[in-house]
Amino acid sequence: MSTEFVPPVRADLVGISAYGAPQLDVAARLNVNENPFPLPDSVVNAIAEAVRSAAQELNRYPERDAVELRAALAEFIVKDCGVELPVDQVWAANGSNEVMHQIFLAFGGPGRRALTFEPTYSMYPEYARDTFTDFRVLPRLPDFTVDVKRAVDAIADLRPSIVILTSPNNPTGTSQDLLDTRVIAQAALTHGAMVVVDEAYAEFRRDGVPSACELLDEFPNLIITRTMSKAFGLAGARLGYALVADPRVVDVLKVVRLPYHLSAITQAVAMAALSNSELLTAQVHLIRSERDALAQWLAAQGFDVAQSDANFILFGTFVDRHAVWQRLLENGVLVRETGPPQWLRVSVGTPEENAMFRDALLRAKEDQ
Ligand SMILES: *Cc1c(COP(=O)(O)O)cnc(C)c1O
Repeated sequence: MSTEFVPPVRADLVGISAYGAPQLDVAARLNVNENPFPLPDSVVNAIAEAVRSAAQELNRYPERDAVELRAALAEFIVKDCGVELPVDQVWAANGSNEVMHQIFLAFGGPGRRALTFEPTYSMYPEYARDTFTDFRVLPRLPDFTVDVKRAVDAIADLRPSIVILTSPNNPTGTSQDLLDTRVIAQAALTHGAMVVVDEAYAEFRRDGVPSACELLDEFPNLIITRTMSKAFGLAGARLGYALVADPRVVDVLKVVRLPYHLSAITQAVAMAALSNSELLTAQVHLIRSERDALAQWLAAQGFDVAQSDANFILFGTFVDRHAVWQRLLENGVLVRETGPPQWLRVSVGTPEENAMFRDALLRAKEDQ
């Protein structure tokens, strides 16, 4: 290898390191908001069977538009939020990360702007960077909700083409009032912007907390992104999807996606999983009650706890959160150092993992 050669990397990418939560082999991995329960055997078998059958035709490119899969996703959405959507208002890709990337390709770009509300998901600025979209953030209020008035003003001032609302938000767990979403979506509509509600954690929301699905009829500029990575326990399969109010949004996502972006294997796996959606999401209510119990316990121990409608909890505050993170890790519990500087985020695990977390945290607290 020549030592003089310098790869002609894009100037704005020089010195930037890749995203990565640590993937460590410890007893309790509570750092990336996965569903902690392995798939039931019957679903593993159904998936294996679907893959076997898809394998027989792997010499062919996959069904390009994944129509059958999108129809299956639409069926799930009827069950989850009572909204009936035709296939041309549903889109699927390799994780909702890819869906969001495609949204930035289609609606962002040079000379365009995206707006969101911090603290929030750390991947958004990366999609903006990759697509040369100007990225702007407004701070959330102390309770981590969006300051609606400021949001509306900022939409008028900054004229973003993409506004991202994350509900439940990551890393705070905060879900957004439907009324607030409505006001922001209206401001976006007035100024010709798309509004994207990232609902990666929607299935974990508490009773009575609505989904933005209910607004699809009302706002033609609305996109809702969802994923099978969290509630379905299918993070390894990479399947995310979008529900859109206007079928022309799907048309343009088809323009920017890579050819045959969704492999025949991925489509087969996701369809087999969707036919077993009840079995796969059976643990969601257990995760929700573990979350509420853990939040109560944290508060009883004197920690600050952010209200969560997701499968994780943001808690604090720590003068030196890294030291606490390190102590937890030494006790076999991996949590995430993310969000506001004095807080840590813990994913809700199995009851056993949550017990390990509580013990480890008590020990870490004694050392403080
Ligand atoms: C986990 C997560 C996603 C899901 O990503 P996938 O690519 O579908 O695995 C999307 N948005 C947020 C805010 C998340 O936390």
